[in-house]
Amino acid sequence: MNKKYRKAVIAGNWKMNMVPSEVKGFVEQLRPLMPKAKTCEVVLCAPYTHITSLRRAMKDSRISVGAEDLSLHDKGAYTGEVSAAMLEDMGTQYVIVGHSERRQYHGETDFMVGEKAAIVLEHGMTPIICVGESLEQRERELTMEYIRYQVLAALSYIPDNKLRQCVIAYEPIWAIGTGKTATAEQAQEVCECIRRVIRERRGARVARSISILYGGSMNAKNAEELLSMPDIDGGLIGGASLKPDDFSKIIAAVAAVTGEESK
Ligand code: PEP
Repeated sequence: MNKKYRKAVIAGNWKMNMVPSEVKGFVEQLRPLMPKAKTCEVVLCAPYTHITSLRRAMKDSRISVGAEDLSLHDKGAYTGEVSAAMLEDMGTQYVIVGHSERRQYHGETDFMVGEKAAIVLEHGMTPIICVGESLEQRERELTMEYIRYQVLAALSYIPDNKLRQCVIAYEPIWAIGTGKTATAEQAQEVCECIRRVIRERRGARVARSISILYGGSMNAKNAEELLSMPDIDGGLIGGASLKPDDFSKIIAAVAAVTGEESK
């Protein structure tokens, strides 16, 4: 983590969990556990149905609200879809795009991911662009080539003047929800590769200032080690973001790594 050049981000991804009436209780438990000083950007990404309740429950807090996906379309005959304008109107600040579960179960391609990220930016929100290799790709030593392609394909939709507003999340598919975490060295190696690819294609200044997160079974125990890596600027957290105590400990790990006062 290098806070001199870029912001630290701890983002939760609730996935399809909880019901809207449980949101208030969750936030009431989380609020007193939050570090007093703002040591990082804290985001909770939730299903569309929870966003208004989350916004209301987190009023006057330092926690931002995010969505887990959005439609590629502006408006019209797309039954069941939710547009960027709708999310913006609800006060959404972040949107996850290209999560491996969207890619796997809904056929999202790298180009769709890039297009979605560009739409998010056009609506003044921040995309969290997910990339990550499968176990087979890792075992066949294709990780770096694959990640490189995913990053370049998605970022090809983003103009230079918007690039630094993006957040990238490296999430090895084999580590998501499995309890298997990438070692800090494995995660650093890929995050460093992502920064290098951006530097080569889009320049050193933007590469230095873009926040790159690690996601994949990050928890209260392993967060500090992962966050202490120079190219890991935060975390995208699934399971542990549903537990206020664990999530707050991951947020506190940022302060432990940077030596900032969190209380
Ligand atoms: C995720 O879904 O983005 C994720 C990282 O999940 P988990 O932390 O549960 O592995």
